[in-house]
Amino acid sequence: MKLSEIAATLRAVGVSPVKSLGQNFLHDRNLAKWIVDQANIGSKDFVIEIGPGLGALTELALANAAGVLAIEKDKRLTEYLRDRFRSSALEIVHGDAMEFDARMLYTKPTVKFLGNLPYYISSQLLMKFLEYPSPISLWLFMLQKELAKRLVAAPATSDYGALTLLVQLQHRVEYLRKVPSSVFLPKPEVDSALVRISERDPRELPACEYKAFQKLVRRGFSQRRKQLGKLIREELPDWEDAAVELGLNTRARAEELSLEQWIALTNRIAPIHAEVINDAPEEQFPVVDEEDRLKGTALRSKVHANNFLHRAVHVLIFNPVGEVFLQMRSRWKDRHPLAWDSSAAGHVNAGEDYDQAASRELREELGVDIPLVRVAKLPASERTGYEFICLYRGSHAGELRLNPSEIEAGRFFPPTIIDGWMTARPRDFAPGLVECWKIGREINP
Ligand code: SAM
Repeated sequence: MKLSEIAATLRAVGVSPVKSLGQNFLHDRNLAKWIVDQANIGSKDFVIEIGPGLGALTELALANAAGVLAIEKDKRLTEYLRDRFRSSALEIVHGDAMEFDARMLYTKPTVKFLGNLPYYISSQLLMKFLEYPSPISLWLFMLQKELAKRLVAAPATSDYGALTLLVQLQHRVEYLRKVPSSVFLPKPEVDSALVRISERDPRELPACEYKAFQKLVRRGFSQRRKQLGKLIREELPDWEDAAVELGLNTRARAEELSLEQWIALTNRIAPIHAEVINDAPEEQFPVVDEEDRLKGTALRSKVHANNFLHRAVHVLIFNPVGEVFLQMRSRWKDRHPLAWDSSAAGHVNAGEDYDQAASRELREELGVDIPLVRVAKLPASERTGYEFICLYRGSHAGELRLNPSEIEAGRFFPPTIIDGWMTARPRDFAPGLVECWKIGREINP
């Protein structure tokens, strides 16, 4: 829409832009087209848009995408948008984007994010929608220019800070262009900028515990002018040794450390023991016949290389509202790294029975000891990786302590979302879970 059309539309709908909702409407159609083009939206992509306003970006996204979900807080605008577009490919939700449950986006094959964000809440929305892991593969954010600069800042600059690191740890950020305030009605006091963000392959950087990283970085930048060693003395009493090891000046300030150095520092405080997986002595597995009768034992590598029939357990943990915990397998797993799997899963070791293995896996992976009920037994086949699988379920209301050397990430999901997710993105899952889920849903639809 042109400037005059925007002004006329706002008058016709009876909307005078509200500053507290960050309402600045884009009136440069060429720029709107350029912006949406940067998301390279194809006919299979689903778009989520935050703050569609009068639909400047929505219209263009809708022309290319399989569907658009637009969340708008101003009811007057949602009514206008419904009236304007009348398309079954567009769903307009009246609500606060901060309260949106992004888990439903896993039921779409690919999701791209568009947002000319309201300034008053940009950084909160940014952190919410960049949560890792995410069903979204690409984000286009229009932000206040200063905020955009902070996302791409390099060490030893005034823009470099905790936000830079928290975003860059899991994402790649591109600063695409400055957007002058003159393209909006009303004209904001500051310029904007467009950034494009994509998820990193987690293996690009060494692993570290996100919560520990977040705490350390926030502490480090809490007083920018102060020496880092003094600020994090409590977390890292041997700062001087760590600094020497990492090649840092012992008097360094937070802004002098690169992302890799922050990761290394986090790992000094909260080490992840990847070697537990990589260097552990190879396990012996029971090898069984077609009737699951014990034939003997063999080394793990031999069992897998020869497709010997063997035994495994899968555990599904439900929370009090009936959601199931799924884990993303660690990057170090030799089989299906970074795939989504059951709450806990693993092989039955030599000398163990199925029930013992299920309880052990649950303790090792999620740090809980709760009663489990065996709900099914799956026959060994190519689809189960030549494993007989016993499937268990359990209920848990408290915290889970995820073992970072075994698990990359994890979350509870409503079963209907998992159903839709498996249809939309079957390659996200470890095959064992897919088989267990089919049986589990038949027993407990
Ligand atoms: N996308 C439109 C454009 O480019 O012209 C409008 C962008 S305007 C900067 C931000 C929009 O976000 C407004 O329509 C405002 O009502 C909406 N908004 C503000 N806070 C919101 C929230 N918490 N959740 C969803 N929408 C919000």
